[in-house]
Amino acid sequence: MCGIVGLVGEDAGYSVYEALVALQHRGQDAAGICTYDGRLRLKKGVGLVSEVFRDTQFPSGVLAIGHVRYPTIGLGASHDAQPFIVPAPFGIALAHNGNIVNYTELRGELWRRYKHILNSDCDAELLLAVFAEELAARCQGKALSFDTLCEAVSSVFSRVNGSYSAVALIAGQGLVAFRDPHGIKPLSLGRCGKRFAFVSESVALDVLGFEELGDVAPGEVVFVDVTGRVRRRRLQQERHALCIFEFVYFARPDSVIDGISVYEARLRLGERLAERCRHLRPDVVVPVPDTARAAAVSLAAKLAVPYREGLIKNRYIGRTFIMPSDAQRRQSVRVKLNPIKHELHGRRVLLVDDSIVRGTTSRAIVDLVRSAGAKEVFFAITAPPLRYPCVYGIDMQTRGEFIAATHSEESIAKIIGADALVYQTLTDLVDGVRGQSDVTFCCACFDGKYPTHVDKETLRRIEAERRRVQLRLIR
Ligand code: AMP
Repeated sequence: MCGIVGLVGEDAGYSVYEALVALQHRGQDAAGICTYDGRLRLKKGVGLVSEVFRDTQFPSGVLAIGHVRYPTIGLGASHDAQPFIVPAPFGIALAHNGNIVNYTELRGELWRRYKHILNSDCDAELLLAVFAEELAARCQGKALSFDTLCEAVSSVFSRVNGSYSAVALIAGQGLVAFRDPHGIKPLSLGRCGKRFAFVSESVALDVLGFEELGDVAPGEVVFVDVTGRVRRRRLQQERHALCIFEFVYFARPDSVIDGISVYEARLRLGERLAERCRHLRPDVVVPVPDTARAAAVSLAAKLAVPYREGLIKNRYIGRTFIMPSDAQRRQSVRVKLNPIKHELHGRRVLLVDDSIVRGTTSRAIVDLVRSAGAKEVFFAITAPPLRYPCVYGIDMQTRGEFIAATHSEESIAKIIGADALVYQTLTDLVDGVRGQSDVTFCCACFDGKYPTHVDKETLRRIEAERRRVQLRLIR
């Protein structure tokens, strides 16, 4: 998962910086911004946005794109950070959020056909190479036209399998944004006067003071030229398969994705989950901060049980999930979360969390609450059991990582030390997130149904690559 921004208008560089800060939760591993002021100027590096951009003086210019990275592949090296640039045609910089499933095949094809090499392990470099190749083949020295752009993106759609919401800066021309035909990753468009912005989540538009114009549709291409003229066209329409995990865990609650408020979706998930927890008769409902808060509020209200903040999170510590070993993850939970003992002591505590992946942090949290004196500890999860690897960019790529792939719910409850464990059903998850909208979702991590073609060999390769990275991280 990553965050992307593209902006056309005055002070584009600084505005992209501000928007990236609002999207920091989508990736804390690396950040980058490319601006254009007669030259493509690229700066990227490893770290938070504020660490990579200590100097916030950006070259003037009306075109800029930016990216925050959450690593799913590679070892967090700075050469894998986005955006990437190519000098021809026109000079293009591109950033994307997603994951390309047929990466290896396309990389091989580029080499065979053009002896084109890639200098990173990042799939954005590949996406840019394919897009640039398709555009160059059609421009042949001519001026850029919207029709040409659409033809190039159309070919990208037919060649590239996976999830990709992308923004590309075309030097001196404008910004083009496109979203894969299934619309797996989010991408919103906003406006403030003559300035336009593409952002992964609407929260970045709020922060910039932009009005939201809606989402880039699945399979759509949108071009905003340097004068602020907008052209858009839907090139391909497949079944919409928006990543449901955005609502479970990833997105900020103050964002609206494809018309669905993330906060409201989480409230609905809490209400639905309440029905499955009634028999537990808890004394108190406590969220595991931060994501599960909204669901815990509505769950407690529905059960008419007090809601309490029984676990306090140190907000300066992040990313326990990405720590390479279980022992490190358990210890970092202790550093990250501290109980308010008198809210837990002697009580039947119902903890609410968004998901269980490996079960490591869940076990540490149950231990913590029990050692704070809780009489009983129940664990309710706003999502169903995670069982299948995500090939579209969420950092869950091997079946071995999922405790629910090999254990029943009863044995997971035992392993994490809970007196009872309650999961949401898949139907309640989908209906709860959807609300009144007609959006359809990718639930592959829960049901193994991938919206794009993913064969066994591809899964095996992605898992093997992930295991290699994990081993290298542990060493
Ligand atoms: P665990 O108990 O080790 O399975 O970890 C579960 C916790 O990890 C939950 O509290 C989630 O909020 C969090 N989590 C789930 N998926 C991810 C992800 N892809 N990246 C980071 N954290 C995640």
